[in-house]
Amino acid sequence: MAISQSNTLPESGTSAAVSPCPCCGSNREISVFAKACNSNFTSIPHLGIEHFGYMPSEVGVPGCSDGPEIHVCLDCGRIKNGKYPVSDEQLWKETAYLREEV
Ligand SMILES: [Zn+2]
Repeated sequence: MAISQSNTLPESGTSAAVSPCPCCGSNREISVFAKACNSNFTSIPHLGIEHFGYMPSEVGVPGCSDGPEIHVCLDCGRIKNGKYPVSDEQLWKETAYLREEV
């Protein structure tokens, strides 16, 4: 979808279909695609995990190993496409391969 060059604020609901926020029902969102591939940085401070490179999968952050793809509700701030909660056991399991790297 091209960015509008108009200086006029478009009417709400005139753009591409957006699924309503499961928290507040708003259709206003910002989508962030930050697929930096092997230049991503992932940190899980309370488990002492820091990793430069492809993002570990199944850690709750939506997207793929190339990087996050996040849809945030602009009214309540909810991340609409994450998978939460994520247990420490799941985080530890999904990042096991990082501890095997030397
Ligand atoms: Zn919302």
